[in-house]
Amino acid sequence: MKFSRVPPSGAIHDLEHIWNYALPPYRMAPHVYGVGGNNDVSVYLLDSGEGLILLDTGMRELLYLIVDSIHRLGFDPRDIRAILLSHGHGDHCNGAMPLHALSGAEIWLSAVDERFYQQHPIAELGVVPFPVHHHYTDGGCFSLGRFQIRTRFTPGHTPGTTSFFFTDTDETTGRTYRLAMHGGVGIDTMRPAALAALDLPQSLAHTFVRTCRELAREPVDICLPSHLNQINLAANLPEDPMDFTPFVDPEVWPALMADRAEAVMALYPSVYQN
Ligand SMILES: [Zn+2]
Ligand SMILES: [Zn+2]
Repeated sequence: MKFSRVPPSGAIHDLEHIWNYALPPYRMAPHVYGVGGNNDVSVYLLDSGEGLILLDTGMRELLYLIVDSIHRLGFDPRDIRAILLSHGHGDHCNGAMPLHALSGAEIWLSAVDERFYQQHPIAELGVVPFPVHHHYTDGGCFSLGRFQIRTRFTPGHTPGTTSFFFTDTDETTGRTYRLAMHGGVGIDTMRPAALAALDLPQSLAHTFVRTCRELAREPVDICLPSHLNQINLAANLPEDPMDFTPFVDPEVWPALMADRAEAVMALYPSVYQN
């Protein structure tokens, strides 16, 4: 799949008619599925063999689409054991509380983003309060069943954005794929005015640029976007939604990292001349 980004015009803007954005579940890797049920924000289901893991939870309004997607794949949402959140924005976190209530799954978030969302009223970040049971460490590892998920702090989009790296093996072919999900690459929150509005330092934007350049060198076979438009996923879904092989492309991840670093550099022309 070639890297191509689409502007976020397809983003959900009408929460009263969420079904207009519905998208059936799809497979991204041997044991990884897109279960967000919508064409904007990603939610990934990982079948660890010893319970289910969710990467992000979407918005609260998406809950029925997420639960429906999980059932359609033949899984039981009550088997979710862990919810790993990428960052403290409502479009990724607000399903956490009801999904925790449904499954008893423990919720993970960086300590920095837990504080960050708690310090800002709902009107600013759109986060409905939820419990955080565990904090990530930078370079740490979350393990369940077949998955060992390496967590890496990638501040910028929020101060505590966390990215996920792991492998997944296809038992039928013996092939192992390297996967990555960058926790947040939206650049609007890194504009000088946006950072100032939340009392955040501009160094956050420069850390993001440096981290994207470093991460671009990580070998990644399958890039999991946190919003589908980051790699124009909705337009590239294979005819067979269980065929993940079109997503195997080691060029996509470094292209996304380079694109996002350049986009933020363009916001600070005096810092990044030439
Ligand atoms: Zn965000
Ligand atoms: Zn988002």
